[in-house]
Amino acid sequence: MPMFVCEVCGCVENTGCGNWWTRFDNHKKVCDIPDGTALCSACTPTHYKSGEVDKSAGKWHMYFTRRLWDGKTQVLNMRPEDYENYIKKFEGKTFTEIVKPSSLI
Ligand SMILES: [Zn+2]
Repeated sequence: MPMFVCEVCGCVENTGCGNWWTRFDNHKKVCDIPDGTALCSACTPTHYKSGEVDKSAGKWHMYFTRRLWDGKTQVLNMRPEDYENYIKKFEGKTFTEIVKPSSLI
């Protein structure tokens, strides 16, 4: 599962965890986020207009640490394990860990 950058908070997310595969269905959620906007799990709106609730949305999944993108690294199509290894190599120098994800929403 490759990675992408959330267009709302700027963190690096796994395509299997955020809304990547359903990003053109944003209009089905209670939000004003345009279709096509890729969101991490924490930034993905929780409620559908139909009344259903997306229980995996609105919070960070905790499969890996939520970090802001450094603005340089090519993350699209990078595998999560490669990304983690890249971060370890430059730990504390180029990436910022998001401590309180909800504060950015
Ligand atoms: Zn986000």
